[in-house]
Amino acid sequence: MSGTILTLNAGSSSLKFAVFSTDETVTTPQLSGKIAGIGTAPVFGAQDAKGATLAKGPLEHLDAAFDHEHLIKLLLPWLAQHQGHEPLVAVGHRVVHGGKHFERPVQVTDAVLATLETLIPLAPLHQPHNLAAIRAVAKWEPDLQQIACFDTSFHQSQGRLAKLFALPRALSDEGIIRYGFHGLSYDYIASQLPDHLGDQADGRVVVAHLGNGASMCAIKDRESVATSMGFTALDGLMMGRRCGTLDPGVILYLMQAKGMTADAVTNMLYNQSGLLGVSGISNDMHVLQNSSDPHAFEAIDLYCYRAASSLAGLIPSIGGLDAIIFTAGIGENSGFVRKLICEQMAWLGVAIDETANDNNATLISTEQSKIKVLVIPTNEELVVAKACHALLS
Ligand code: ADP
Repeated sequence: MSGTILTLNAGSSSLKFAVFSTDETVTTPQLSGKIAGIGTAPVFGAQDAKGATLAKGPLEHLDAAFDHEHLIKLLLPWLAQHQGHEPLVAVGHRVVHGGKHFERPVQVTDAVLATLETLIPLAPLHQPHNLAAIRAVAKWEPDLQQIACFDTSFHQSQGRLAKLFALPRALSDEGIIRYGFHGLSYDYIASQLPDHLGDQADGRVVVAHLGNGASMCAIKDRESVATSMGFTALDGLMMGRRCGTLDPGVILYLMQAKGMTADAVTNMLYNQSGLLGVSGISNDMHVLQNSSDPHAFEAIDLYCYRAASSLAGLIPSIGGLDAIIFTAGIGENSGFVRKLICEQMAWLGVAIDETANDNNATLISTEQSKIKVLVIPTNEELVVAKACHALLS
């Protein structure tokens, strides 16, 4: 079927989109872009396949009051105008949580949407926005096929031990297990390993997805073996606003001794912790790196210390380590963070080339390094588009 596939990644304050051909051999989007600052100061930006900026038209002036539904109402005709003559045949969505219900991408029906709604408490920062985008497309283009692609799917390959909490068995049986997230990103990186690692592509790799959200995944034979995130996207690494791994006793103390409500604790752990909470300045790594405030450095230092601890903790699951891959906003752009993390892995024989690292080169380890260290930009949109291709055909 000739036409185009739209991918949407709807977050709390951003809506990323890309348009791919249904011709699977074309892996570069015809156009892509994002609306950032939703709810505060929305700004639209888009480029064509060659990177040329596209005219904003009616998306030039956006109101802070516009929600995802309103923005998608404006975006769909803009896309129709800019994507040439081929019709849009499907929309693929990044959906953070598929729970135990969805192991692979699925065509969205009313029943699927209703099931996904039940997972909102497990991903309160992401799931409501992912689903708002699905509902908006259904409202404005009811005949368009929609496909949900899950961040949890890539981790289906994990063994039982990697998924279990040491909780009463009945809770595991009802689905209180580690799911893991950022699976679309890990799926993409896994697909790139043969190009970068050759014979070692099926080896032992830890991928560090360091964006606003952050996690790590231990991969072997290009499949997920273990990951730092668990039942929700709160677990594991310290993040922009999220605390990462926390002694559950702290939560009990906050509620029992300090009288905090569940909502107040939720807000603290999801929105007021991480880089923002420790620095007291910002959740943005770039801002913190440019700050001379000692609290900013302490936040970065803690971020890297905990990332290195998590990395080391994942190694037994894959029986050693051949390569570390950095990806996402911080992983792709912050030589400073990569250096701080890699220095703490020097005991393992990790050595990075400072010039290559400063230049965000693809291979940043030295020739002598026992472990290869690479920087590979992620491409979650392409994974969503490919999943749509597969379902459509
Ligand atoms: P999201 O999870 O929202 O997709 P991104 O992957 O875009 O997030 O990552 C955003 C993070 O990347 C922010 O903390 C931002 O400061 C950081 N970042 C982007 N560019 C740089 C840079 N040059 N140096 C340091 N941090 C950067």
